Amino acid sequence: MPDASLGSSPRRLDVAIVGGGLAGLYAIHRLRKLGLSVRAYEQGSGIGGTWFWNRYPGARCDVESLEYSYSFSEELQQEWKWPERYGTQPEILKYINHVADRFDLRRDVQLDTRIETATFDRATNLWTLKTRAGETIEARFVVMAAGNLSTPRLPDFKGLKSFKGKWYHSGLWPHEGVDFSGQRVGVIGTGSSGVQMIPIIARQARHLTVFQRTANFSLPARNAPMETERERRHKANYRERRISAYDTPFAIGGHPRPTRSALEVSDDERNRAYESKWQEGGSISYLYAYTDLLVNKQSNDTASEFVRNKIRATVKDPRTAELLAPKDHPIGTKRLCLDTNYYETYNRPNVSLVDVRSDPIAEITETGLRTEGGQSFELDAIVFATGFDAMTGALREIDIRARNDQAGGGEVSLRDHWAGGPLTYLGLMVSGFPNMFIVTGPGSPGVKTQMIASIEQHVDWIADCLDHLAQNGLDRIEPTPEAEQAWVEHVNQVADSTLYPLANSWYVGANIPGKPRVFMPYVGGFDRYKKHSEAIAAKGYEGFALGRTAAGQRQAAE
Ligand code: NAP
Repeated sequence: MPDASLGSSPRRLDVAIVGGGLAGLYAIHRLRKLGLSVRAYEQGSGIGGTWFWNRYPGARCDVESLEYSYSFSEELQQEWKWPERYGTQPEILKYINHVADRFDLRRDVQLDTRIETATFDRATNLWTLKTRAGETIEARFVVMAAGNLSTPRLPDFKGLKSFKGKWYHSGLWPHEGVDFSGQRVGVIGTGSSGVQMIPIIARQARHLTVFQRTANFSLPARNAPMETERERRHKANYRERRISAYDTPFAIGGHPRPTRSALEVSDDERNRAYESKWQEGGSISYLYAYTDLLVNKQSNDTASEFVRNKIRATVKDPRTAELLAPKDHPIGTKRLCLDTNYYETYNRPNVSLVDVRSDPIAEITETGLRTEGGQSFELDAIVFATGFDAMTGALREIDIRARNDQAGGGEVSLRDHWAGGPLTYLGLMVSGFPNMFIVTGPGSPGVKTQMIASIEQHVDWIADCLDHLAQNGLDRIEPTPEAEQAWVEHVNQVADSTLYPLANSWYVGANIPGKPRVFMPYVGGFDRYKKHSEAIAAKGYEGFALGRTAAGQRQAAE
């Protein structure tokens, strides 16, 4: 419900949180413990973020459920029972709602509230946030927990308005679900979302046409009901398992650290290793088969070719198989997909694959779509699995500004500051925008890890930082421009030492025409990032300018 204080004097908070997903909810829990007044503003009509919006058929997390969960409460992780190896969207949403109730988080979440502007005034040392409905909130600190894949993107096709059928985007799926029975359905996009929904839609639709621009690598998930014995063993030392997971690049445990290059072993031995990972299911174990799959092209070629051969062996029509076998990027450099019967689906008589790389979609018509080469497709429904304005989209949608304190002093906007690509220090803060923290922002390892581990690590870091400020009578923190620049350079250097930049992925904004091509996630690993960010805090927040302001002192005394 929109807030009742609308129109009256501004609500004053210690910390305003933007977003009521996994990050926003944990921030409420953690920051409340410091005695701070907090409130999360969520644009959806329910909590859960990604898991609230992405309700498309087959939506499921591709990190195993025993890993993809909060670790902050031993009781919670012991009590919760995941029914399957990988959590479905409804199951994860149920879990998030359970957490909100169990830790009494809802009273500090305001739903149906979109933050449109956020302005920091150096003179008052306050952030002022304005909602779409006109409410004003003042806060000493802001935590942006608005998500990395939360701004759905529709390609700019001509003619969508004229389409007489129904269309959907994976990230804005109707809550009541969609029944495609008897319909001619077109799915555009073959990333993780497309790969999960295609086998399920194929079972319902009269005919499914998949429009593929870039083939993606996908590995079998091998989902199954949770094995009781496996769950018992995991829970017997959950805490220790989490700690050892934090000491790995992906923050995912259970996979021994590789010790050899893929080129050090014989072809037979390597193929046996890949086969065993293929049978085991999951993406991390595959990419973790050898030390150098993400840094050495020749090594990667062996892993890529193994999967291409699996595709060729699965898909009966050789032309379709070749189209599905990715050749334009090394495996793992775009987000590796996990699937259940994805490639097998193309053996169904009611499924066809159209290559829109060689013949791009020209326009949506009243009755379907047409390609530039003049092929026409009659469709009753179109599904856009076309992704998101990743990592920066949600923050760019908010008009974020900071005002200087000199009279007539200028204003800087985040959109301008990021015009050439996102700039952050540690992915956590932005120079010139004091007292604003970002959870798993650009420059953080978040999207390359088990997200919830990164969320907890970032929020804990932020909480410790706010505590440090309070303990020392300080009220302002911002990164120095030098530290920010050095971090951005470091993020890029690390990326350049890997194969990641070889792919046109959302990691570099390649899916958004005109978006500056900058490598956004930190791919040096969760383990290195955690140690580094903790060391920076231990050194008195090296690279940050900390301060005490007259206005801040007054507010603290109020
Ligand atoms: P995505 O990976 O960005 O894929 C979008 C797809 O749409 C790509 O195949 C893209 O082709 C295609 N596309 C975009 N514009 C197009 C156009 N104009 N014409 C034709 N095709 C077009 O988006 P996503 O599948 O929603 O996944 C985004 C991320 O969300 C994933 O990488 C993952 O991190 C996360 N996710 C995770 C899960 C999970 O845990 N299982 C599930 C879903 C999503 P190009 O490749 O050529 O651009």
